[in-house]
Amino acid sequence: MGNIIGIDLGTTTSEVAYIKDGQPVIIGNEKYCDGNIMPSVVTIKKDEIIVGKKAKRQMLIRPEITVSEVKRLMGTNEKIIINEKEYLPQQISAIILKELKEMAEEQIGKVDEAVITVPANFNDIQRAATKEAAQIAGLKVERIINEPTSAAMYYGLENIGKEAKILVYDLGGGTFDCTVLELFSGIMDVKASRGDNLLGGKDFDNRIEEYILEYISKNTEVNIEKLSKKKKSEIKETAEEAKKDLSVSHSTDIIINNLGIDKEGESIDVEFELSRDTFNNLTKDLIERTEVIVGETLLASGITGKDIDIVLLVGGSSRMVAVSDMLKKSFGAKIISSINADEAVALGAAVQAGIKNSKISSESGLIVTDVCSYTLGVAVEENEFSPIIKRDMKLPIVKSEIYVTSSDDQERVNIRVYQGEEKLTDDNMFVGNFVIDGIPKKKAGEEKVEVTFEYDLNGMLDVSVEVLSTGQKKHKLMAVERLNEKDIEDLSKDINIKQKNLTWKDSELYNIVSVSISVAKDKFEKMDSKTLEDVNSIISEMKTAIENKDKDKVTKLDDTLTDILFDID
Ligand code: ADP
Ligand code: MG
Repeated sequence: MGNIIGIDLGTTTSEVAYIKDGQPVIIGNEKYCDGNIMPSVVTIKKDEIIVGKKAKRQMLIRPEITVSEVKRLMGTNEKIIINEKEYLPQQISAIILKELKEMAEEQIGKVDEAVITVPANFNDIQRAATKEAAQIAGLKVERIINEPTSAAMYYGLENIGKEAKILVYDLGGGTFDCTVLELFSGIMDVKASRGDNLLGGKDFDNRIEEYILEYISKNTEVNIEKLSKKKKSEIKETAEEAKKDLSVSHSTDIIINNLGIDKEGESIDVEFELSRDTFNNLTKDLIERTEVIVGETLLASGITGKDIDIVLLVGGSSRMVAVSDMLKKSFGAKIISSINADEAVALGAAVQAGIKNSKISSESGLIVTDVCSYTLGVAVEENEFSPIIKRDMKLPIVKSEIYVTSSDDQERVNIRVYQGEEKLTDDNMFVGNFVIDGIPKKKAGEEKVEVTFEYDLNGMLDVSVEVLSTGQKKHKLMAVERLNEKDIEDLSKDINIKQKNLTWKDSELYNIVSVSISVAKDKFEKMDSKTLEDVNSIISEMKTAIENKDKDKVTKLDDTLTDILFDID
């Protein structure tokens, strides 16, 4: 069997892992990653696509051609326009997946399948969009699994003999997920998942950003409305760095230079201290929102807080001190943060992949069950929603309900399937429909149809209907199919401009550095003499390095130059 990889396709960062000698390991590559973590950022130039670490830098100098947080758009039809070309969210995600796939292939050879993770509360359309992204990237999706379940699988593999009730608290960059599950005799039994797709580290950054802008407004004559896009990006970046700093320090310095020129012709700078206490006050409500969701998850799981044995902290934002402080109140010493918060999800996905291709021995026998994230049902009269499979029911599952005709001589029934928790059909999400006809003409309420939903672990819903009086049957696979094969083919062509690899052709090396050099030239006028001198010397060093075909040196110098340029506005 070929290679299968596990992928955590995150809002902010993405990771890829595989099974080596029975253990999951992360595959990183310093070209695209910080450590083993690849920023989920894509820059699309006319003839080149840049992914990961370098794209994240481009966000600061070229925000108009750089896309981040595309995961928040998955499942929508919102177009992303770059250089007058339109991209679907799936295509941008596909670019990231393709890079992860290729990164893995450099180390382990051909890969054609993947287990990909999604937030537990992604609905079927968002899951379908994720599958499409994989198809566009040329990956067969072995399985879509929920992120917290995945993290718990990694923990489960390490602690296979244990019995434990586990709560997974996963706070990433853009989403929060909470899952309660039980590990016993090698089975990971998911009890309930709840979450918020619009709550993550980014919201904490925003609070600091607003605080900085307010400070600038109050203490300087700078009009914050008129700050350049680049300056705003810089403030964003500063806010995020400050936040991370506060996970280890009690206070941090906020420094923003060159906000403008004052009447005396001096540059306007701000510098002040931000304490952890202030940060905690600014973001108290966000932490509380996660606390409420933790409570809801426990309630739905039927397990009380005091019966929880282990709390797994997952996601970069779970490193915030306020998170563990909040959880300590209820769970104290049960909190485990030794698993790597950034990598656990991808590692768990690799475990799942390893079970599939037998790279993990069957004796370890780890089995996962999951639950239905959303209620599935049909529309009945008066816009009423009739649930068939309820949220938190164990998957896979088969459930039936019987309905009667609503008017005299009714010969056909339109089965309209919806997903969601609202009482009114229109407030839920439409999944699909089909019509069964040939029902014998009778008085209203006299003919019965039985509707059966069969829902599997991959979110595939098979709906069948039987007219009970005649035995006539019809069924349809409700997989949310939004794109056909031809669409996928076209969409994958569009992302085929290849990220340029460093090769030994001078011309290409020039290409790599040409962005920084040309941006540098644009900025010459704004540089002070010291910076100008530095930049000129870096450029001349670069030229020598190119002549010597010293790839590593060129890359390093290019990075340094980009860093310097970022500081100039
Ligand atoms: P996602 O699952 O959304 O891709 P990650 O799990 O990679 O996200 O988490 C990214 C988020 O974690 C970002 O908002 C980042 O700022 C935040 N983060 C990373 N390290 C820290 C830290 N040490 N303290 C606080 N937040 C952090
Ligand atoms: Mg994540």
